[in-house]
Amino acid sequence: MSGGPYEESMELEAARRSVLEVVQEMDRVGLTEGSAGNVSMRTRAGEIVLTPTAMAYGEMTTKDLVVTDEAGRVAPGQQTPTTEIGLHLACLNRHHDIAGVVHTHPIHASMFAINHQPIPCVLEEFEFSIGGDVRVAPYFPTGSQELGHAVAELLGDRAAALMSNHGLVVVGSSATDALHLTKLVERAAAIVWGAITMGEPRPLPEENRRIFRSQYLERRSQCS
Ligand SMILES: [Zn+2]
Repeated sequence: MSGGPYEESMELEAARRSVLEVVQEMDRVGLTEGSAGNVSMRTRAGEIVLTPTAMAYGEMTTKDLVVTDEAGRVAPGQQTPTTEIGLHLACLNRHHDIAGVVHTHPIHASMFAINHQPIPCVLEEFEFSIGGDVRVAPYFPTGSQELGHAVAELLGDRAAALMSNHGLVVVGSSATDALHLTKLVERAAAIVWGAITMGEPRPLPEENRRIFRSQYLERRSQCS
């Protein structure tokens, strides 16, 4: 990582704008409350743009975003990064075929997280976009290294994981992609919750699931 703002690459500037847009949209559509939730994005040069800790999203500018290297080292003069930096670094460092991470506390997905209950993949678009059921990482306190590792472990072959008694993490080819997939998971969680109250959701045929899953993995391999 080098230099001050005047030496930043166009890609890094674009990543800052993108992360800001994503975090403000996340706030606007109610995927979190207050300053909860956080977003990161990695540039091709390996810089990581992170949201700062404890700041109102409506007032945030691109200058408030924090740039670190892969070890999380912060150049002087920047804000303090999100307390969940370890979660973002664990996901980005472990999976080089993704570049964006969005962590939120959405209502319906969090209902599954509280029950330690995976969100079953019973919608076609879900299998295709997420790669399968959204599994649940065991409980570890927020900000802990163990939590980051437990979540990253579940994201090798799919885009989303639940954090027990906490919320949701989604990875994608960019921060924008991860936000889009976050909305999809939250929408599916609401649909599945409703379907469970009405009766028993029926699974997709396994053969079709396999095809959709391989399409997800194919798209993901193109990102690395
Ligand atoms: Zn959180």
